[in-house]
Amino acid sequence: MSAPNKSYDPVEVEALKPEEIERMRDEALAAFAAADSLDALHEAKVAHTGPASPLALANREIGALPPHAKADAGKRVGMARGAVNKALAARQSELEAERDARVLVEEAVDVTLPHDRVPAGARHPLTTFMERVADVFVSMGYEIAEGPEVEAEWFNFDALNFTPDHPARQMQDTFFVEGPEGDRGESGVVLRTHTSPVQARSLLDREPPVYIVCPGRVYRTDELDATHTPVFHQIELLAVDEGLTMADLKGTMDHMVQSLFGADMKTRLRPNYFPFTEPSAEMDMLCYVCKGESVGNPDRPCRTCSSEGWIELGGCGMVNPRVLVACGVDPEKYSGFAFGFGIERMLMFRHNVEDMRDMVEGDVRFTRPFGMEI
Ligand SMILES: [Zn+2]
Repeated sequence: MSAPNKSYDPVEVEALKPEEIERMRDEALAAFAAADSLDALHEAKVAHTGPASPLALANREIGALPPHAKADAGKRVGMARGAVNKALAARQSELEAERDARVLVEEAVDVTLPHDRVPAGARHPLTTFMERVADVFVSMGYEIAEGPEVEAEWFNFDALNFTPDHPARQMQDTFFVEGPEGDRGESGVVLRTHTSPVQARSLLDREPPVYIVCPGRVYRTDELDATHTPVFHQIELLAVDEGLTMADLKGTMDHMVQSLFGADMKTRLRPNYFPFTEPSAEMDMLCYVCKGESVGNPDRPCRTCSSEGWIELGGCGMVNPRVLVACGVDPEKYSGFAFGFGIERMLMFRHNVEDMRDMVEGDVRFTRPFGMEI
């Protein structure tokens, strides 16, 4: 360090020697270049441009120089400080740009991620499918009718022409909630074994013409296995009007399968027996996969219909006049048709579900492929 005011020779002021000033400048430039973060650069900035930095101290020494030397020294120090400040600003913006680029990568938001990690629930495919079937009839002007699941035995059996000793009562294994009151012959209470009691209730409630569709849960004492469940769903249809015939029944069923499976679908009837319809028939629909082409064609076997060409859907027929009478409808004036089928079975072959238990166990891995239909 020099001793101010003792000499007028600028060479004696060590800090102001040109090579010293160059060294201070180069040290500062090297320190800035070596700073690899904004924090490190800030430290270098304090060390090389702050009030205690070599160049700042050298600047102060200028005052000690003789007047003719001040200009030269001032110019050298000023140029050095200018270069240092410029290098500092350049490095500062370089490091800031690097930081901004890094932040963009590190804090980037992946807009393709699901916005909601908790999946919203959806209704069960049985429910949505049952409503889709009901919609086919609603679009034809049918009303949806509902009835209790705990049903009077009279509605479940008697009104539908199942007499107390009718062998058909044994056809269905029934959950009895209350047995009939012995000798008095009063009606017991059952879990309904089919949706047909809603037909009887609707006929008692309404004046013909009646066009209703009844979707709902029904109960039978079956064990749960791959093809049976004690609780399942049926959809049943009833039309009572003047002049209805089997042709109206057939046309309505054709329309239903065409709405659900495609325009080239059709149905066929096979004679059968049910107490509440006369005549009664089993309803088959054309196999919607092979359209019957697998029949007698071993090269094109069809798993859906076992190469039979037809799939059994459910029972149907003209409403038995006894049922009309039991419900207060004049069978001389009115006739009607009815049919019903199981929703589970239809969902099974429509979507190749092989085990009925999958539908009742509530596992989302089963329901998810059906889509989150609300
Ligand atoms: Zn087929």
